[in-house]
This record gives sequence, C-alpha cells and structure tokens, in this order.
Amino acid sequence: MAPTPPPPLEGAKRRIGVMTSGGDAPGMNGAVRAVVRMTLHENCESFAIYEGYDGLVKGGDMIKEMHWEDVRGFLSEGGTLIGTARCPAFTERNGRRTAAKNMIVKGIDALIICGGDGSLTGADVFREEWPSLLDELVQGNELTAEQVAPFKHLNIVGLVGSIDNDLSMTDATIGCYSSLARICEAIDSVDTTATSHQRAFVVETMGRHCGWLTLMAGVATGSDFIFIPEKPAEVGWQKNMLSIIKKHRALGKRKTIVIVAEGAIDTNLNKITPSQIKDILTNEAHLDTRVTTLGHVQRGGQPAAYDRLLATLQGVEAVKAVLEATPETPSPVICIVENKIVRRPLLEAVAQTKKVAEAIEAKDFDTAMLLRDAEFAEYHRSYEITTSTDQPELELPKEKRLRVGIIHVGAPAGGMNAATRAAVAYCLARGHTPIAIHNGFPGLIRHHSDDPIGAVREIKWLDAESWANKGGSEIGTNRGLPSEDLETVAFAFKKYNIQSLFVIGGFEAFTAVSELRKARAHYKAFKVPMVILPATISNNVPGTEYSIGSDTCLNALIEYCDACRQSASASRRRVFVIETQGGESGYIATVAGLSIGALCVYTPEEGINIKMLDHDIDHLRDVFLADKGQNRAGKIILVNEKASKVYNVQIIADMIAEAGKGKFESRHGVPGHFQQGTTPSPMDRVRAVRFAFRSMQHLEQFAGQDPDEMDDNPLSTAVIGIKGAKVLFSPMENIEKKETDWHRRRPKNEYWWDLKETVNILSGRPHTPAKD
Ligand code: ATP
Repeated sequence: MAPTPPPPLEGAKRRIGVMTSGGDAPGMNGAVRAVVRMTLHENCESFAIYEGYDGLVKGGDMIKEMHWEDVRGFLSEGGTLIGTARCPAFTERNGRRTAAKNMIVKGIDALIICGGDGSLTGADVFREEWPSLLDELVQGNELTAEQVAPFKHLNIVGLVGSIDNDLSMTDATIGCYSSLARICEAIDSVDTTATSHQRAFVVETMGRHCGWLTLMAGVATGSDFIFIPEKPAEVGWQKNMLSIIKKHRALGKRKTIVIVAEGAIDTNLNKITPSQIKDILTNEAHLDTRVTTLGHVQRGGQPAAYDRLLATLQGVEAVKAVLEATPETPSPVICIVENKIVRRPLLEAVAQTKKVAEAIEAKDFDTAMLLRDAEFAEYHRSYEITTSTDQPELELPKEKRLRVGIIHVGAPAGGMNAATRAAVAYCLARGHTPIAIHNGFPGLIRHHSDDPIGAVREIKWLDAESWANKGGSEIGTNRGLPSEDLETVAFAFKKYNIQSLFVIGGFEAFTAVSELRKARAHYKAFKVPMVILPATISNNVPGTEYSIGSDTCLNALIEYCDACRQSASASRRRVFVIETQGGESGYIATVAGLSIGALCVYTPEEGINIKMLDHDIDHLRDVFLADKGQNRAGKIILVNEKASKVYNVQIIADMIAEAGKGKFESRHGVPGHFQQGTTPSPMDRVRAVRFAFRSMQHLEQFAGQDPDEMDDNPLSTAVIGIKGAKVLFSPMENIEKKETDWHRRRPKNEYWWDLKETVNILSGRPHTPAKD
C-alpha cells in the first residue's frame, strides 16, 4: 500500500503540479516561474514534476514541492530547468496508472503542462482516464477508496511550449519567437557574406510538419524563396524558383537566400532537400552556392522578450484556470490571439493541429493552410508579393492606381524600414507609384525652400530590397509636424501629386495626421486617404495596443538588465535602478518589468512618492535579511524617465544604498538610446510587413474617389492597430476625440495597466500604499 496522501488543503486551495514535456523551448522556465509563484500567491501548494511525464511515472523525488526562491532567475534561462523527456511509459495505461498514484500520494489534484501537441494529447488522455485509473488503483489494492476519494476530479491545463508554433488556435507558442530570433540572426549573418561574394545560400530550418519558422524567417529577412510543408512547391518548382532568383539578380541583387523547412515537400509529397536546391542553383543559375543547416542552435539560447512575457502571462492565466475550473469544465489550453490571452478547449486545439498533418498527407493543401491560424495565409501572401517581381495578374487598371507618399515621423523605431520595403513591393506589384518623402515633414518643407537635404523621390524595387532587417530609418525621419508650414506641405502634395499617404511613426505621426485631417477644410491637397502605422518604442499611440519597434526595445532592455544582473552575481545583494524610455507611458517599463522579473516598476501614470520608496526599501530590507545566499543575482527596479521630476534613478539608488547600510548596495543605470536597439526584432519586422500590406490595401480602396467626398468616410484617415484579438483600422477623428490624452501623449485607457499588478505579484512586492 502506498503512503497516505496528505489531507486536502482547506477551502478551494489546491496542490498544483507543473511540468515541461516534449521538446524544450525557450520561455518554458518563465512559465514554470509564473505558475509556481502565482500558485503560492493564491495560498496553494506548488510542485514541480521533473523530466516531464517520466517524473510523473517515477514519482518520489522527481516530484518536488516548490517555494518562492526555487524559481529565482528562471525567467532569463533558456531550455527547461526542471527537465523534459520523451516518456514511452506514459503512452501505456500502466504507466499512466502509476502516474496517477504518484500524484495522489503527493496530494496533487491539478496539473499544468507546458509542451507540444504530443504532451497535450497525453494530458488529455490522462484526464479522460483519470476516474477509471483511480478505480483500478483501488481494485488493485494500491490505494484505498478513502485515499482516492478527495481526488475524484483532475484538472489539467495546457500551456503550449514549442519552437515550431505548430498548435492550431494560438497565434504563438512559448518559444517560437526566440527560435525565430536565432534563425534571423543566422540568416542576417549569412546575408552579409553572401552579398560580399555574390553567393547563394540555402538555409535549412526546423519544422517537420510546420512551416511557421521558415515562413516568418523568409518575411523577416527578405529571402528570395522558401519551401514549407503546408504550401508545397508545385511540380516544376525548379523553374519557378530559378525565374524569381534570376529576375532578382537581373535587377541588381547581389545575394540569394533560400530557406527550406525540414519538412519541405512538393505537391506529390516528395521531399525537397537543401542539396537538391543547391545543385539547381549551382548548375542552372551558375551561382556559387552553400548550404547552412541551423540544427539545434534554433532551440537554444536565452528566451526573447516576447517569450518571457507570453510565458509569464500564460502561466498566471493557467493557475487562474485551475482555480476557476469546475468538474464539468473541459481542459483548457492557454492561447494568444493577437494581443489577447484566451482559453481554448485543449481537445479541440490538439484535434485541429492533427488535421493539418492529415490534410498535407491527403494533399489537401488549402485546408492545411486554413487550419493554421489566420495570420499564416496572410503572411504567406505578403511573402509572395514582396519577393515576386513579375505578377501581372495583381496589377490594377490605370484608374485604380495611386501615387503613395511614404513618410517617417518621430524617432526611429525597429521595423520602419521593413514596413517601407513591404509597402514599396506591394505598390509595385499593384501598379501604384511609391514615393519616399525624405526626412519627415521638415524635409518636405525645406525641399521647397531649395534645401538640398529634403527630397521627394520615387522608390524602385532594388532601393528598398535590402531594408527588411535594417534598423533606423532609411528614408530619414523627423519629429517636425506639418503645422510648421501647412501651406508648403499642401503645395508639395499638389506638386508631387500625392494621392494617398502612408505615415510610419509614433505619437508625432499621430499628431501630424490629425493636423492634416483638420486642415482639409482649408487645403484640398489633404483630401487624400491617409493611414498611420504606429512605430515607436514607447508604444503610446492611441488606436493600437502594439507599435512596431516596441518589441525591439524590450529585447534591448532585457539584454541590458540581464547584463546588470549578471554583473551582480559576484558581489550579490545589489539593487539596480534602471531608467527606461517611454515618454509619459509606462508601457516599456512595465512589460520589461514582467519580462525580467523586476522587483517593481515606477511609471508616470502612478508617479513616485516618498511612501512608495520607503515601502519598497523596507521590502528590500526584508528580502535581503531573509537571504540565505539565494539572491546571487541582483534585483532590478525599473523607473520610467518621466515617472517623477524629483526622484530620478540616481537619487533612488542613493536612497537604497543609504538604507542598505552595508547589507545591500545599489547602482543606477541609464540605457538611453541603447533601447532603440540595433537590428529590429523578427516580431517587429514581420508585423511591419503585415501591417504595411493591410495599410496599402486600405489606401487603395479610395482610389478614384472624389476628394470632396473624402471626409464622408471617417476611415479616410485611420490608424492601423491591434486591439485585443483583432487587427483593425480606427478612424482618426474618433480616436483623437475619445481615446487620446493629448496632454500626456498617450491613450486614455492603457490596455496594459493591469499588468503592473502582475509584476508586483510575481516579485512578491507587498501591496503598495496609494499615491499621496
Ligand atoms: P514537440 O512539439 O517538441 O515534439 P511534444 O509535446 O509534441 O513536443 P512528444 O514527443 O510528441 O512531444 O510528446 C511528449 C510526451 O508526451 C511523450 O514522450 C509521451 O510521454 C507523451 N505523449 C504523447 N502522446 C501521447 C498519447 N497519445 N498518450 C499518452 N501520452 C502521450
């Protein structure tokens, strides 16, 4: 007979197990940390099951109770620190019966599993069989009826941890953006050498059944051709590939990059291999061609900011799902749709995922594409349009073609160039004329005062071709607004026959379009459709929850914070007080705080007062007093640059050092413009492409419309953005009037505000006193 299980916890409190299973993925540790800490925060008990289902089947020491300090430092670590394994024993009923017994012996009645579709299938089988497994344990005299009675219902919650992003019903799995970052780093590196020698490279990426990594890498790096399993190459693909590559070379491109998913096939399900492609490029296109296989590099390394954030928010949600579950609730899997964390039925998500492989097997490729999330087909279409230079079927009739002005406004942000490149490619494919307005509105104004710096020029395909991965702004950006000289701006619009405007930038871009919209009453030249693609590290543009450039900034900031933390590992007990940018919005500070596990975050929305500082210093004192040597790495406090006019990072660091009295010390850091990052993150690049395409599609609806009717359609000046689970265009006038805090230069209701509480919960910060 097994040892007696501990009595159930009082009330609705639970013992919740967490495990990682299947292939490892960066961000899994962040999920474990969030689950453990959220479980403890809810006064429940937390257990880690080591080595996936193997640990569940073996039991004993493989199932360990977890405490707050046990997951310290987990957020920034790659792989999984509690181990993972493929466990054949769990695929057998006997193994699952033993696993059930081991859980009951520890008193665990809920399980949160972070893994791929295999792991989640196993989880669902386990839950389905649970009552009958308990019956068998009683019948076999392994446990008594009394012992199993409190464990009648097992709650399972899935978290999708997988680099492949292969689960249907979620836009992203924990780990996929880190893996994409690794792939893009590699391809960006190959790119420079390929250009130098005019070589071709064939890069093989992971993805046996799923082409997400390959497709996104193709979009993010501007590769010439990709091969993915869901959209197999047509028979005769060799000719198609050669034709595209030869055209790119003829247009002046010095390099060729082809990306191939491991599972690449043709429509007859024949495998397509990198060496086949190499031979074709060498023999038929006469290119000096090399093959690079990225292999397990793609799994490794530290998690990207997005994966840390996703893992954290989903881990918190998983615990909430356990606590809210009733015996009737179907097991959920925690997903993300655009910017919204949602629960989906686990069984359905797994079934839909399996259908993709079945559809490919049955050569039903349209269904395979549809079964991936909605973004997938859209990205694929965008990819085809940006790479193929000759698509007569896409060309619009002459009267539907537009001259599209493209302008960057405000500080540079990662993805501005990728968006411009995509807009140019789209315009050229449709017969529109893309026109770069260099150096923002001041550039346009100066140009007419005969200043040679300003310029308005048509952009050719090759001009923009290499911009997919470039940071900064290739056409030049400027904070200046049209109100500097509306007359000249209107004159220039007329002179260059600007028939639509694509504005890429932050709050200044928003202000600029607002000014142009209002000036329509006086200047007919502004009666053209305009779209803003929000691009700013501060992510403070009304009308969207996400601006391109903000993800690049978060990655730069976590790199800086990780380095600070690591530098403290020798001295220990050091608190870093780090200033973040973000203007009057605490978004960057808060989301970076979640991604690095900051002790606390000070924002302009809340301000800083002496009570808060006093309270946080007391908390630090408690933390370091209780320290038994675990606080090897430093603590981080993030302070937005405008959180207080009085308490800057240096003063706060000095106050902490003074209070520490030799028990702990403090340093301050100002990463400043480092936060703009260097190479834009893959997420900013791919979203830039997607939003640029949508923006162009939006603008072209207005082609041929009478300018005097422009104001009748509120969407003739619009912001493209993510709102919850949707990507949509919002009319400027509405957003300006209802959603904008003009004084603070940010949206009135900031969607992320509640995340601040999650930073506090996960860092164990006691409830803070209200502002004075
Ligand atoms: P990845 O996406 O990285 O492959 P995965 O979770 O799909 O991750 P798998 O190897 O398919 O990885 O599954 C991990 C483990 O889950 C298996 O070793 C097995 O223990 C368990 N498992 C998978 N499928 C089942 C099933 N149908 N029934 C019971 N257990 C299963």
